[in-house]
Amino acid sequence: MAASGQVANFRLPPLPTIGEIIKLFRLRAVKHLSQNFLLDLRLTDKIVRHAGNLKDVYVCEVGPGPGGITRSILNADVAKLLLVEKDARFIPGLQMLSEAAPGKVHIVQGNILTYRLERSFPKHLQKKWEDDPPNIHIIGNLPFIVSTPLIVKWLENVSMRDGPFIYGRTPMTLTFQKEVAERLIASTGTRQRSRLSIMSQYLCHVHKCFTIPGQAFIPKPEVDVTLVRFTPLVQPKIEQPFKLVEKVVQSAFQFRRKYCHHGLGILFPEAVRLEKTKQLLMTADVDPTLCPAQLSIFNFKNLCDVYRKMCDEDPNLFAYNFREELREKKLNRKKPSHCDEDNQL
Ligand code: SAM
Repeated sequence: MAASGQVANFRLPPLPTIGEIIKLFRLRAVKHLSQNFLLDLRLTDKIVRHAGNLKDVYVCEVGPGPGGITRSILNADVAKLLLVEKDARFIPGLQMLSEAAPGKVHIVQGNILTYRLERSFPKHLQKKWEDDPPNIHIIGNLPFIVSTPLIVKWLENVSMRDGPFIYGRTPMTLTFQKEVAERLIASTGTRQRSRLSIMSQYLCHVHKCFTIPGQAFIPKPEVDVTLVRFTPLVQPKIEQPFKLVEKVVQSAFQFRRKYCHHGLGILFPEAVRLEKTKQLLMTADVDPTLCPAQLSIFNFKNLCDVYRKMCDEDPNLFAYNFREELREKKLNRKKPSHCDEDNQL
């Protein structure tokens, strides 16, 4: 049976087990690349099943490592499989898989953070944004150190409809440290609600698939891992530039335990902070005594729309940086005043 539960026409021939591949190529996990491997093919099949029916789909796998998930993807009878792996030691093992699935696998030794996925699939796969997702899927048991910057980068790509989303609403099935996954899916008012919750949910339908206990990995990480599936929304819930949304959301969550007006206040220079924060909150119809975690996406939409208008009216406002103002204030406090210099003379 295919990973989707449908009959697959393709099956990999008998191969050494993942454990044997690890021994054969001496693939000792290295910490700085967040290497934790999955050896149990029932589990890798389960991960791939959660990506949906992959028969004839063009798939990109991030960080295939010794190739457990790679085998499950190939057994799902995909059209083509692009593998992006940073660590050169894994390439010979992946080549062995490639030979077992002739013409299907393309291996790239590279960094997924800089690799240009917009050039990786045939043009004919491109769909209109409003259409169903294209016949493309991104899958990965992501390295922990890369997962948050990568998803933020890809969310920005979703908002711009570029990168892997030049083909349309490309779905992604990716693992995260359990705590990060909980933030990605957190609803309004929960403890895990954070910047990542808003940034992911205003652009995508975000679905928690299942949690994999740390013991399932070799070596065992200190945390559990959760598989999350993202499908970009036809209509983003906030229709403002990504960087503007990011600035509003980051500011709002700056002081997590305080009322939201504290964080939102840092969007404005000190001299006008009180007045402008009041104007922002009143016009956006947001209660200033809510905590950041209690703000809904609709609240953020209104805040972003009003902040955008304020930025249009004051062209210097978007460039204002709270931290820079603080730094300058500190520096000015340290500098001796002219009077002091005069006195010393
Ligand atoms: N997919 C394999 C599995 O499930 O057993 C390995 C997963 S391991 C958590 C993460 C993999 O990503 C490793 O193979 C690591 O070398 C690779 N990796 C780390 N940083 C990367 C990057 N920036 N770009 C591409 N691959 C990366």
